Amino acid sequence: MQRIAVDMDDVIAAPLPKHLQLFNQRYNDNISINDLQGRYLTELRPHLEKEILDLLAEPDFFRDLDVMEDSQEVLELLDREYDIFIVTAAMELPTSFSAKYQWLEKHFSFLNKQNIVFCGDKSIVDADYLIDDNPKNLEVFKGQGILFNSPYNSHVEEFKRVDNWKDIKSYFIDNKK
Ligand SMILES: [Mg+2]
Repeated sequence: MQRIAVDMDDVIAAPLPKHLQLFNQRYNDNISINDLQGRYLTELRPHLEKEILDLLAEPDFFRDLDVMEDSQEVLELLDREYDIFIVTAAMELPTSFSAKYQWLEKHFSFLNKQNIVFCGDKSIVDADYLIDDNPKNLEVFKGQGILFNSPYNSHVEEFKRVDNWKDIKSYFIDNKK
């Protein structure tokens, strides 16, 4: 079976809306997702960079994130024909391990626990495909990279881009033909 490695944040889990909401609440701001085209929140409010990153380091931040639309249904379908691995660069936020694992158990319980990979540098990942919203991870990946659309990466052009999980479904079904 071919392997598909799937990133977690902003691909199957949605930290961005929660991060923005928390930030706006705590720092009395009014930034929307549309303000983030091609930019990170830390670039918009550089003087609050530490505070912005600290929100993500709160141990419960990742526990109650929304699931990205259609990701469960499509992964459950692809799981029959591919070996699915969830690969998250969790070393950036070691405080998130427990919440991330519990979130996966809750929302993606059909996936094999042995196929959950918490890592640092994703160049170690040996898979045929990597679906990720971060171009840096795709740059070091040796297989076929697939860029999952996100406001941050709207300017990136060098990778195959998918807008949502319906696109991913079509991509893999068409690939099989
Ligand atoms: Mg990500």
